[in-house]
Amino acid sequence: MTASAPSPELIGGPGLPQRRELRTEVPGPLSRELAARRSAAVSAGVSSTLPVYAAAAGGGVLVDVDGNSFVDLGSGIAVTTVGNSAPKVVAAASDQLARFTHTCAMITPYESYVRLAEELAAITPGDHEKRTALFNTGSEAVENAVKIARCATGRTGIAVVDHAYHGRTNLTMALTAKNKPYKDGFGPFAADVHRAPTSYPFRDDAGLSGAAAAKRTTDYLERTAGADRLAALVIEPIQGEGGFVVPAPGFLAELARWCRANGIVFVADEVQTGVARTGSWFATDHEDVVPDLITTAKGLGGGLPIAAVTGRAELMDAVPAGGLGGTYGGNPVACAAALAALETIREDGLIARAAAIGEQATARLRALAAADPRIGDVRGRGAMIAVEFVRPGGTEPDAALAKAVADHCHRTGVLVLTCGSFGNVIRLLPPLTIPDELLHDGLDVLADALAQS
Ligand SMILES: *Cc1c(COP(=O)(O)O)cnc(C)c1O
Repeated sequence: MTASAPSPELIGGPGLPQRRELRTEVPGPLSRELAARRSAAVSAGVSSTLPVYAAAAGGGVLVDVDGNSFVDLGSGIAVTTVGNSAPKVVAAASDQLARFTHTCAMITPYESYVRLAEELAAITPGDHEKRTALFNTGSEAVENAVKIARCATGRTGIAVVDHAYHGRTNLTMALTAKNKPYKDGFGPFAADVHRAPTSYPFRDDAGLSGAAAAKRTTDYLERTAGADRLAALVIEPIQGEGGFVVPAPGFLAELARWCRANGIVFVADEVQTGVARTGSWFATDHEDVVPDLITTAKGLGGGLPIAAVTGRAELMDAVPAGGLGGTYGGNPVACAAALAALETIREDGLIARAAAIGEQATARLRALAAADPRIGDVRGRGAMIAVEFVRPGGTEPDAALAKAVADHCHRTGVLVLTCGSFGNVIRLLPPLTIPDELLHDGLDVLADALAQS
């Protein structure tokens, strides 16, 4: 360690100094040393957006091993919604760690599993009777939602849409739209998956209504898959990896209505949008849509791996005992962390905070867009906001510009992520604990990056 490196006792959480500060070039010497060890030990298939090695994080910053403090506009992909090392999460997980770390919920259960299921029943849309099953990752939750829908309906077909992202396991690769890097070379994929057009207002014909886009989707599925063959429609209410695509108003409601009329299970994949991120508990709340099944993961565990499928009791209970589960699903430390994360969201008013972050960031990005024809679209909800870059005057994607802007941000101490089927979108997913000044500092850097790219 060099003299300027942070002490090994550096503690994360909201007490960490909330400022952007670079002490070395990015990545610094200690991160470069680790990168060399990494390439000799870690699969090249696992990549990193910003190869600085984390030492501590909290509030709205991430500090690396060289002592550089970055503004975090990514939250580890929408996971640390309540901030890194949120005090209640640390306390609850630490307490649980000292009691027992694992029994396997399929062997001897514990109260926190049940309580988390009760909480999820209370916060998910709809006041019907619900059940929950817990898992470890978003992909696992989506796979299990498909299993449940198939088992409950006796049908096998699964409908998904363009630009969708549902994970990297075998079944979820089939549900995911983008070939590289998610699917290329990894087939063959699971059968009976049907991909239909979606609503992408920026790229659809101007004025295409949500209802008309939904009719395009359902007509296509009726023609190519057959509505009576479909067990489920799996859809992200706002697409994540696909580019933060917010569908036209009414699109989701019309799809849900069509699913109901045809006995198809409507599965909202809220792995990225769920749990306060969009300025409500769930993104489907904004559309008054009540999904039959809803998947959650990322923001649920306050940084610990946990995922859930929550939905109609009659669907969830259609699966025979032993049909769902897994060794680690609903791990007690992760359950304790999730309960503490939900409590933090309630007590600290983080749903309103997500909405406020969205208003501030969107206003600034819209002002940038008004002055720069390379910004084709600014969109999102709450603290899930994106900028889509194009060649001026049209909709031709400009992925090189998105990359140049992101690289500039990274070199200047702001962590942003890109996304989109065309790689031309920068997405902002700040922790909801980010102070206003730091958010605005991050947006200043983004504006500078654009001016210089
Ligand atoms: C991230 C994501 C997944 C996959 O979650 P993992 O925890 O990475 O398996 C599934 N669906 C959506 C919408 C996601 O954003």
